[in-house]
Amino acid sequence: MERIIVVGSGFSGSIIARMIAEKMNKKVIVVERRNHIGGNAYDEYDENGILIQRYGPHFINTDNYSVIEFLMQYSKLFRHDTKLLSYIDEQYVRLPFNFRTMQQLVGDKKSEYLLKQMRAEFAGRDRVAIFELLKSNDDAIREYGNLLFEKAYKTYTAKQWGLNPDQIDKSVLERVPMAMNYDERYLNKDFQYLPINGFTKLFENMLNHKNIEVRLNCDAFDHISFDYEAKKIKYDNKDVDLLIFTGAIDELFSLKYGRLPYRSLNIKYDYYDEEEVLPCEIVSYPQAPGYTRQTEYKQIAFERPVCNKTVVATEYPVEYTPDLETGNIPYYPVLTSESKCIYEQYVKEAESFGNIVLCGRLAEFKYYNMDVCIEHALEKFNEIKLLLEE
Ligand SMILES: Cc1cc2nc3c(=O)[nH]c(=O)nc-3n(C[C@H](O)[C@H](O)[C@H](O)COP(=O)(O)OP(=O)(O)OC[C@H]3O[C@@H](n4cnc5c(N)ncnc54)[C@H](O)[C@@H]3O)c2cc1C
Repeated sequence: MERIIVVGSGFSGSIIARMIAEKMNKKVIVVERRNHIGGNAYDEYDENGILIQRYGPHFINTDNYSVIEFLMQYSKLFRHDTKLLSYIDEQYVRLPFNFRTMQQLVGDKKSEYLLKQMRAEFAGRDRVAIFELLKSNDDAIREYGNLLFEKAYKTYTAKQWGLNPDQIDKSVLERVPMAMNYDERYLNKDFQYLPINGFTKLFENMLNHKNIEVRLNCDAFDHISFDYEAKKIKYDNKDVDLLIFTGAIDELFSLKYGRLPYRSLNIKYDYYDEEEVLPCEIVSYPQAPGYTRQTEYKQIAFERPVCNKTVVATEYPVEYTPDLETGNIPYYPVLTSESKCIYEQYVKEAESFGNIVLCGRLAEFKYYNMDVCIEHALEKFNEIKLLLEE
């Protein structure tokens, strides 16, 4: 019988474990260092019955309905179009920036000309990257693009990545869209959903299989060792046939080629004796000192708990420092030519064993949205199947 170990119980690890257990009828051990399953999508109810996503707000959004169908095997989902406002110059404006935002920021009179010009220049397109506005031949469109950069993106991006605003290049707007209409949905994907009873319940159902054993509070690094000469992986000194690793790849090899850089978040919670306090479920604050976003979780619940209390989570981007009490969770990979080079050395090392499968945002040092992460884990399973059938 094979010994298959999956490290990590986020989307990547849980999906692969379930697939191996169900489709191949093989036993899998899932090792999770936290005291809960679900990775960064973990959520829990607080004492007021409000469902809080402890690692920041997550919304499933995809153009690929098969992702939704896949998740529906493990939880009922409800449609939820994510809505965001941004607080700029002491007023709330809609995100994504759309025609209404333009009217709010430059006034109706000025926007009349801009609307006409944009409709002509970007005819037939729902969304256009703000970077394209900056490259327009029309002075007014370019000026509006610059205004968005200065007021919304320069300082936000600087806070997010811990940089000086002057270091922020306009190319950050290459993938930031503006809606060429009055569309109020933040995300431009066809299918936007959330699990009715939360992500953790979905993970519980996914991992609930006779062939899966989940070990919480268990750091894989206390158990894994490598025999470099024989190219063997050991878990508690016994051979492992297949290691599916979804944790941080630099940690797997004891940082031997250096630490991979990440940004982290310090999330602070404030409770209010009120029904609701924010004008929208998420508000971004490009101009505020230190923090970037606030989320009022009550507003994204399938059924809003009846209580005159609410909680707001405020995100403070911080440097990733594994040994400190705050900022010790790697959130966003900092992709530079140097970090990519370090990452490649770890991948080579992993490949030299022949039976380590790297999957997920930490093991592959990539920012994955959940939909991409889910599709990717299912693809990885197909590779694993071939490996196990060899
Ligand atoms: C603030 C924020 C908001 C986001 N919002 C969205 C959103 O709205 N929509 C969207 O599609 N995506 C969103 N994402 C992306 C989403 O979080 C990822 O796609 C997803 O969590 C990746 O899952 P994963 O399994 O690869 O990694 P993770 O969820 O990080 O799981 C890895 C697991 O491995 C465990 N682990 C690591 N090392 C060890 C070890 N040594 N031993 C045992 N266990 C270990 C960790 O504890 C963790 O549980 C967001 C990300 C962030 C940071």
